[in-house]
Formats: sequence, structure tokens, C-alpha cells
Amino acid sequence: MTKPIILNAAELPEWTHAELGALFTVLDLPKEPAAARAFLSEHGGKIRGIALRKTKIDAAFLDALPALEIISSYSAGLDNVDMQATRSRGIRIENTSHILAEDVANAAVGLALALTRDFVNADAYVRSGQWPVQGHYRLGRSISHMRVGIVGLGTIGSAIAHRLRAFGSKLAYFGPSRKPVDIPYYDDIARLARDSDMLILTCPLSAATHHLIDAAVIGALGPDGFIVNIARGPVVDERALIAALAADKIAGAALDVFEHEPSVPEALMRDRRLVLTPHIGSGTEETRRAMAENVVDALARHFGIESPRGRAVVEAELESAG
Ligand code: NAP
Repeated sequence: MTKPIILNAAELPEWTHAELGALFTVLDLPKEPAAARAFLSEHGGKIRGIALRKTKIDAAFLDALPALEIISSYSAGLDNVDMQATRSRGIRIENTSHILAEDVANAAVGLALALTRDFVNADAYVRSGQWPVQGHYRLGRSISHMRVGIVGLGTIGSAIAHRLRAFGSKLAYFGPSRKPVDIPYYDDIARLARDSDMLILTCPLSAATHHLIDAAVIGALGPDGFIVNIARGPVVDERALIAALAADKIAGAALDVFEHEPSVPEALMRDRRLVLTPHIGSGTEETRRAMAENVVDALARHFGIESPRGRAVVEAELESAG
């Protein structure tokens, strides 16, 4: 049987590339845009699947791939994919939301604790020898006594809610639609901010969520409020955040993602009220491995090919069907 032809448009671990190569005829997309366009106009007609990470997939890209059936994304966020153009062509999309949710939720809760208990600065206090000289460290804030607003109660947002319940936080959420859950729903982000001590952002980046957290929302959250962003950088208007910090209109923020990452504004880098991490929400060995495996397995399932995980994939399918 001839192997289906897939486009590798992702930077994947070497072993994942090798697995793909064993199952499919793999064409590697050139990095340079002009070379990529030329490559697609030559080979696009026979490509049936894409292994994707950050490459932008727009209508023009899809037009060059008329035989495309499936996109298998390493990420959960699909803000690099024109979903409407993809859906209207009947192309299937698989992502890793279900695989990375637990570790991203762990990261969000870890960041929320680091932020409210000031762990990063407290660590520096011990290491710099200030403890014996200056005595007790300043008090933090208790997440167990906070009202936490989750912005986007999807796979990751729900995993965060599950954890925060155990902490005793009072929860509410905002999103485009009410979910069948016993957590109060807000259809207005500013009202949620006004009624929250902390906002945790877990929505996708889209036209509707670009700068969703702007000066008005930060103002509604108030000077004792906190923001944790593990969604995408542009969900927060970074300039509005910097202005709010300068005017003491927000208590602090934990940011795993940035508007123009990996570039981070100087004003954020030097502000000790912030906890900053380099987009590591899903960054554990276990989860990153499972994400890469899923890129291969989703393509294998679609084309009816046995993946290196063989039966495990079939069992996972049965589980999700049942
Ligand atoms: P998901 O399961 O699709 O959940 C997204 C949730 O956001 C859904 O409940 C959705 O509501 C809601 N939403 C959609 N539009 C919204 C809007 N305009 N305002 C507020 N909420 C909105 O996705 P997920 O797997 O939880 O992932 C969420 C995002 O996290 C991803 O898109 C990605 O950008 C980010 N992420 C970051 C990292 C990291 O390393 N920091 C890792 C993984 C993912 P409906 O169900 O009503 O549409």
C-alpha cells in the first residue's frame, strides 16, 4: 500500500519525525516563506495531512492543498489556523487540548500561588541573606479566600476550577456560553472582574479575545486584584497592564505568555510584582511526549494505519466513543 503523503509543518522531536517517516511519506515544509510557497505549489496537490505546530494556516495556504483531509496540531491553541476556512473545506482538526490540560492547569495554579504568596521574591530574600537582618517576610494573600474568575471555562479552565475547588476559592467564569456546571456564569467580563480578586485567563486567542483584558477590565478588577495569563499573550493589552502597574492599579500578575514573545517589555521584566515564565504551561517531559505522540496517532487513526502505540490508540478511541 502506498503511504499517504503528509506535510511536516512542525518542529517536532527527532523521534516523532522518525515515527511519521515510518508511517507516511513526509514532506518537510521549508522555513523561508518564498521557498515554502514554491514548495506548496509544486507538491500541495498530493498532500493529505499536516503535522502542525505554529505555522500559519490561512485560506491561501489551504487553497494550495486541495487534497488535504486532516491537520494534526501539536498545540491546543489553534489561533494560527483559519478555522472557518478549514471547516468550510471539511478538513478535520485534531489538537492536544485533552492531553495538556492537566499540566497547564497545574502551571496556572502554581503561578497563582507563586503570585499571591510572593514565592519568587521570598526565595531571593533567603538567598540574599536578608532574613537574619530584616526578620519576618511580608505577608502574602490567601487564594483560599479569594474570588477567582476563570476566563474561558474549557478543557484547561475546567481543570483549573477542579483544583481551585480543593483550595476553597470562590469560583465564577466568563465565556461566550453558559456551561452545565454549578459555577456562576458571567456574560460580561468587566462585571466578572469587578466581582473577582483574581482573573485566570484560559480562553483561545481570537478576534473576540484580542485585548479582552484592557484598561477597563483591569480597572474593574481593582488595585488589590491579580491576573494569571496562561492563554495567549495578546489576550492582555500589555500596554494597559504596564500603565496599571505604574499607577498601582493592580496588585500583580503571573504571565506565561506575552504579546510579542519571546520579547518581553523591559517594564514587565523589572517589576517584582510579576511572576514571568517563558510559555512553559505544558512544558513537562511527560506531557510534551504525549503531545508529540498524539500528532502521529491522530494522523494514523485518520488514515487507518496502526501507530507505534498500536492497540493503545485503538483503546483510546474506544474509550472516547464509549
Ligand atoms: P478549549 O477547551 O477550547 O476551551 C476554551 C474555552 O474558552 C471554551 O470554554 C470557550 O467557550 C472559551 N471561549 C471561547 N471564546 C471566548 C471568548 N471570546 N471569551 C471568553 N472565553 C471564550 O481550549 P483549552 O484546551 O482549554 O485551551 C485554551 C487556550 O489555552 C488555548 O487556545 C491556548 O491558546 C492556551 N494554551 C496555553 C498553553 C500554555 O502553554 N500557556 C498551553 C495550552 C493551551 P465555548 O466552549 O463556549 O466556545
